[in-house]
Amino acid sequence: MRVKCMMCGKEEELSKLHKDYKKLAANPAAAFICKTCSLKVTNQAQKGNDVLKKK
Ligand SMILES: [Zn+2]
Repeated sequence: MRVKCMMCGKEEELSKLHKDYKKLAANPAAAFICKTCSLKVTNQAQKGNDVLKKK
């Protein structure tokens, strides 16, 4: 199944083993975020938390 990352627009081939496969197969309009972008989001969220802690 071919899916498009909602953040960078990169298309990826999703295998049936992917954790989001069922969700996206059931609802093709569901948001998909590729590994690269989800890592970025996680890092940014962690940075944000660090800033809040320092204050
Ligand atoms: Zn992406």
